[in-house]
Amino acid sequence: MSGSLVLFGPPGAGKGTQAGLIVDLTGKPQVSTGDMLRAAVKASTAMGMEAKEYMDAGLLVPDSVIIGLIEERLTEADASAGVLFDGFPRTIRQAESLEAIANVVAVISIEVPDSAIVERIVGRRMDPETGGIYHVNFNPAPPEIVSRLIQRPDDNEETVLARLAAYHQQTAPLAAWYGERDLLVSIDGDHSIDEVAAAVETVVRGLA
Ligand code: ADP
Ligand code: ADP
Repeated sequence: MSGSLVLFGPPGAGKGTQAGLIVDLTGKPQVSTGDMLRAAVKASTAMGMEAKEYMDAGLLVPDSVIIGLIEERLTEADASAGVLFDGFPRTIRQAESLEAIANVVAVISIEVPDSAIVERIVGRRMDPETGGIYHVNFNPAPPEIVSRLIQRPDDNEETVLARLAAYHQQTAPLAAWYGERDLLVSIDGDHSIDEVAAAVETVVRGLA
């Protein structure tokens, strides 16, 4: 399949968890703006320091910063046949900018109600060595790596509510925007990780 895919959904929907499966099925590299921003924060770049203020507050990082990051990433050789965008675009302006620089062939929307989101986010744990995503109840890490797991600074109950508000105000309208362009495919994400993976696989195989 040529062209790019977008993984869409609220914070904690399971985008990062399902991204690896789509990478395996399509060979497209995952481009996660959240991961790119966290790498910039860790490296203490000027952009990372600016972005951190927004991330810690649960607000979206300004469009100009995000669009610059994506433009640069898409110039790399592995992006030439399309990528899997994860957590991008998050505003109509980002989607309009993307339209000018990439050919999006499908937007896979993982739908999860707000009532399930807080528990998913507060229980999320990350493996800094492999990037693995775990959950204290829903996807426990193997005991031998538990001691090295970290919790993202923005994965607390207060920030989650701000992130959900930003999602509903600024990001959710994109579903209709992509729907009008006949690109939106929705998946019910309010099931187990394995059940959601099966639905994702069916959708991705159907795109071929
Ligand atoms: P989530 O697990 O909530 O989907 P991400 O890792 O995608 O989180 O994003 C973490 C934070 O990084 C967001 O709350 C936001 O501050 C910032 N961010 C990531 N992607 C974008 C984007 N496309 N536009 C604006 N801000 C972004
Ligand atoms: P996103 O990238 O959309 O923010 P993640 O993939 O990081 O979401 O998942 C958020 C948290 O929820 C993680 O702790 C993950 O292990 C867990 N999770 C992901 N999918 C499911 C699911 N279908 N059921 C229960 N928990 C899930």
